[in-house]
Amino acid sequence: MNPNHQVPEKKPMGVWGVFVLTFCQWLDSDFRREGLPDPADLPEKVNWQRTLPFIFLHLGCLAVIWVGFSPVAVGAAIFLYVVRMFAITGFYHRYFSHRTFKTSRPVQFIFAVLGNSSMQRGPLWWAANHRHHHKHSDHEEDIHSPVISGFAWSHIGWLTSMKNFPTSYKSIPDLSKFPELVFLNRYDQTVPFAYGLIMLGTGWVLETFFPALGVSMGQFFVWTFFISTTVLLHGTLFINSLAHVWGRRRYNTDDDSRNSWLLTIITLGEGWHNNHHRYPHSVRQGFRWWELDLTYYGLKILSWTGLIWDLRPVPLVVIEEGKVALGSHQHPA
Ligand SMILES: [Zn+2]
Ligand SMILES: [Zn+2]
Repeated sequence: MNPNHQVPEKKPMGVWGVFVLTFCQWLDSDFRREGLPDPADLPEKVNWQRTLPFIFLHLGCLAVIWVGFSPVAVGAAIFLYVVRMFAITGFYHRYFSHRTFKTSRPVQFIFAVLGNSSMQRGPLWWAANHRHHHKHSDHEEDIHSPVISGFAWSHIGWLTSMKNFPTSYKSIPDLSKFPELVFLNRYDQTVPFAYGLIMLGTGWVLETFFPALGVSMGQFFVWTFFISTTVLLHGTLFINSLAHVWGRRRYNTDDDSRNSWLLTIITLGEGWHNNHHRYPHSVRQGFRWWELDLTYYGLKILSWTGLIWDLRPVPLVVIEEGKVALGSHQHPA
């Protein structure tokens, strides 16, 4: 693979060329071939070959028809969903994107790896896109707004477009100064691949040495890799799509963000999306005592161990503003 390899301009790529380019980009998401247009200049449309890993992920769930289920396989899938959702919400979102608390370099790396296993690409790509979302929420430049681009595009379409595949390193200088994070981000299929191998290996151990559990290698793999990761992906994506159309608005923010109990349960506390758009600098998204925010509780516990610190609170003025703003009558049903 040579990034400096020249191809004659204007000559259309054959099938073999598309295959090689796609394969190189799977291995190295920063790979750019000279002579091709800058992805930022491309139109917003589905790029099928770049989307194949996601299609593979969804199709893999269908294998449950053949492998069935068992309490151990389903339990492991749920456990890995919760742990990895916490890595996405607590670290990809509240730490890398919004810097709402501080931590050490090893801890940020460990949670970056855990988040990366969710097949939501690297932490730098995720944070760069998310900061962009907060800057342009539900305005023309927002890459995933259901108000501007429609529900399906805001949910999954934007993720399939080549235009949105590159990482804007210059918009996240505070993160791109860490070479280990840049490495993870660049080779963003490595961790999901390793995660898959670990699930296969664990499934083999359970099938071989603990037959009484009734788990097969294939069954364990389908539940912990395909189903757990696919549900996790859509749970997260609902915050881009559903949390901007469905739910209640407490704050009159410059976007269509909403608060929703259902999304809160699915995403361990990210459903208080209107709160979050009003004040994204706080580690907490449930602003009232009754607004369940499991990610915040998890981060609070981590702070007691000393692994993270300087958790940024919600200013009193923002809480007070919520009591007199749009949804002052809101209370749990
Ligand atoms: Zn939003
Ligand atoms: Zn955010």
